Amino acid sequence: MKEKSDSRSHNMSHVKGKDTSIELKVRKYLFCHGFRYRKNDRKLPGCPDIVLPKYRCVIFINGCFWHHHYNCKYATIPKTNKEYWIPKIEKNTLRDIENYKKLEQLDYRVIIVWECEIKSSFNARMEYLINEIKRDMNE
Ligand SMILES: [Zn+2]
Repeated sequence: MKEKSDSRSHNMSHVKGKDTSIELKVRKYLFCHGFRYRKNDRKLPGCPDIVLPKYRCVIFINGCFWHHHYNCKYATIPKTNKEYWIPKIEKNTLRDIENYKKLEQLDYRVIIVWECEIKSSFNARMEYLINEIKRDMNE
């Protein structure tokens, strides 16, 4: 188990558009399983981490802190500077919802993979992810 301060500094270092280690891990897994994708596609709302054109599907790999994973132990608001963090995280969450809506209007399926799912059970999450991706395909 990691110390709380460790996971927080990791979370706060997440800058959108830069590849984090969990994003790389997911991409590598998909690539090894034959999926081909675009990454950090800025032409799409929210700049999805992974775009799978063949499946009309986008994947966001979300840090639990920044994207406020509901009921998640990593989504805690820091005790100091609450007046700074709460509006910031609310803004992120609202922007996420807007982006997911826009993507769905463009006929993309949106899949969210949470940081904590990757940390706790990577292989199981990836197997499930592949099912989610292929859901509508007759393969
Ligand atoms: Zn989480």
